[in-house]
Amino acid sequence: MVKRKAQVNQNDCVACGACQKVCPKSALSIHRGCYALVDENLCVGCGLCTKVCPTNAIDVIKKEVTL
Ligand code: SF4
Ligand code: SF4
Repeated sequence: MVKRKAQVNQNDCVACGACQKVCPKSALSIHRGCYALVDENLCVGCGLCTKVCPTNAIDVIKKEVTL
C-alpha cells in the first residue's frame, strides 16, 4: 500500500524543533539534538511539518508501506 510520509533531509535540518511542535501525531523527534527523525508508524502525511520548517528540510513523499 502506498502512503504519504514525511522525510527529513538530515543535512538541511538545524534541529530547531518547529516540526515537532506542530505535528498532530507526535511523529517527530529530535535525534540527539542533531536532526529530526520521523516515526513512520505515527506519521499520517498531513504535511504540516513541511510548512513550518525554516530550511525546507522536510518533504512528504509517497512510500510503499507494509501493514
Ligand atoms: S506529515 Fe504530519 S503527521 Fe507526518 S510528521 Fe509531518 S506533521 Fe507529523
Ligand atoms: S523544522 Fe526543519 S530544521 Fe527544524 S527540526 Fe524540523 S526538520 Fe529540522
